[in-house]
Amino acid sequence: MKVFSMAILVSLLVSASMAGAAGAKENGGGIVIASGGRSDYAIIIPDNASPVVAHAAKELQYFISSMSEAVLRIVPEHDAGGQHGFVLGRCDRSKGLQKRLGELREDGVLIRTVGKDIVLLGQNDRGQLYSVYVLLERFLGVRFLAHDCTFVPKKDRLVLPEIDYAYSPPFMYRETLYWDSFPREIAARQRLNGPASKCDAEVGGKIQIQPYVHSFNKLVPPDKYFAEHPEYFSLVGGKRTNLTVHGQLCLTNPDVLRIATDQVLKWIEEYPEVPIFDVSQNDGEGACECDKCMAIVNEEGSQHGPILRFVNAIADVVGEKYPDKWVETLAYAYSTKPPAITKPRKNVIIRLCHAGCYFHGFEECGLGANLAANLSEWSKVTDNIFIWHYATNFAHYIAPCQNLNGLVKDIRYYATHNVRGLMVQCDYQSPGGDMAELRQYLAAQLMWDPSLDPGVIRREFCNGYYGAASGDVLRYVMLLDKAAEDPNVHAFGAWDPKGTASPALVKEGLKLIERARSRKLSPEEADRVDRLFLPLWYMQLTYPESYGLSPDEAPPIVKEFRRIAEASKITHINEGAGIDQWLAGMESKYAQK
Ligand SMILES: [Zn+2]
Ligand SMILES: [Zn+2]
Repeated sequence: MKVFSMAILVSLLVSASMAGAAGAKENGGGIVIASGGRSDYAIIIPDNASPVVAHAAKELQYFISSMSEAVLRIVPEHDAGGQHGFVLGRCDRSKGLQKRLGELREDGVLIRTVGKDIVLLGQNDRGQLYSVYVLLERFLGVRFLAHDCTFVPKKDRLVLPEIDYAYSPPFMYRETLYWDSFPREIAARQRLNGPASKCDAEVGGKIQIQPYVHSFNKLVPPDKYFAEHPEYFSLVGGKRTNLTVHGQLCLTNPDVLRIATDQVLKWIEEYPEVPIFDVSQNDGEGACECDKCMAIVNEEGSQHGPILRFVNAIADVVGEKYPDKWVETLAYAYSTKPPAITKPRKNVIIRLCHAGCYFHGFEECGLGANLAANLSEWSKVTDNIFIWHYATNFAHYIAPCQNLNGLVKDIRYYATHNVRGLMVQCDYQSPGGDMAELRQYLAAQLMWDPSLDPGVIRREFCNGYYGAASGDVLRYVMLLDKAAEDPNVHAFGAWDPKGTASPALVKEGLKLIERARSRKLSPEEADRVDRLFLPLWYMQLTYPESYGLSPDEAPPIVKEFRRIAEASKITHINEGAGIDQWLAGMESKYAQK
């Protein structure tokens, strides 16, 4: 656990009583960056700074001025003379740190005071930008809470301690598949780098994957080949199938391998900036049952046998021509268990899909999927495992989903079991959803550094996001935690929330949110607290008998639900349906009573 703001707090307290011009060294070793709205510091960048360094400099300038009202000049190194400053990018002043930089892993950051300078470096472009965000967060108390909320502490005297900090995140790929995590600014500030984010070159780009997943039907399209070559496709129950869901390829057919390999090579030519190319099974079941495919399944003791042999063969060709490209495949549905004999090539990424209890963590309740055992086996044969993790109720986006502690457990488990990339799939189609903003922030923070204290993360989030209502919201979150502790209640994927949210939970929750709403709040904070009613009302409106909602009480709740949902731009009630349809249904249901 890291109480990461303590050192700064102490240094501020020490320095508060001392007069000193900006740039002076404090007795405790700290450096005064700004005082009374003035600063001698500059932001020093290379003479030919890249777009990402220029952007990092502007972000640093913006947040330092927001904190202290001192506007630091951004200057090319050769114009800086003897002025001290924050040194970004590969400058002569930071040359001595090249060896340290070489020790970082993907997206890593290096922050170091050198004399009166503060050097900020990254292992790559993203790491360069992240070094600014880590400085602001870890050493200056800024919190990038949500797309609509950043906490910036006001400081008349901005003081930094002596810093020698190097850090590389355990996951090179970090993605929270929440609608509100896609905008460029919040994705970069929360150090999310997944393909769905809108991160461009100016913020260091993102991990791109072509195509995202389920690519068998794009590698060998049934539209193009099935009529003439049904033998390219999976034999299911004695018949070849052209389905793109619940239908696969015949992976032992040499023509299929040739066509798929050519297609991957074509994609690499077409998308030279993309590092990862996907060769993975279609959604659903439908693996090939032909004699040749089944012989491999039996030999390998796993349906992943034919998949991995096929993927390895493509990866060999790719590796020869493009040694810096990756080939990704899924271990999903029928193929989660690793093969007994064949091992993934060094340029193959295995994307293993989550299955297990949301509330207690998959390690505790596997829900029959053996994820812990499969992950353990995969981690013995490869260092390149990505995880596809689920964290919302896909059938009821807006119902209470008390998985905050389960999610923490699972992320930490992945971090200690050789996982290199993690995507947490939530409400990706629409803003909103149960505790969407907190869950996103918590996941993003822990994906960057799983050792952070989740209690501190949620407290800081609620303080910054809900203002004076923070205490009530925290109590509500604890109520959800308590409900999740019930050893007899489990949840995964898409379920009926009536079985997991008791009438007592909804009743008690409403009391706490009503109290939260009665506090003195800014208009933004009031809107945020309003959204917390929706999961509880959703339960009452959907199951009025179970949750004791009388016909008289319902119509004003439906009306208020619509107002809040529209104000929050919520478009989806679940993965398959729009909210308009649901609201119209509720309006007619309660109008008849
Ligand atoms: Zn086959
Ligand atoms: Zn469970």
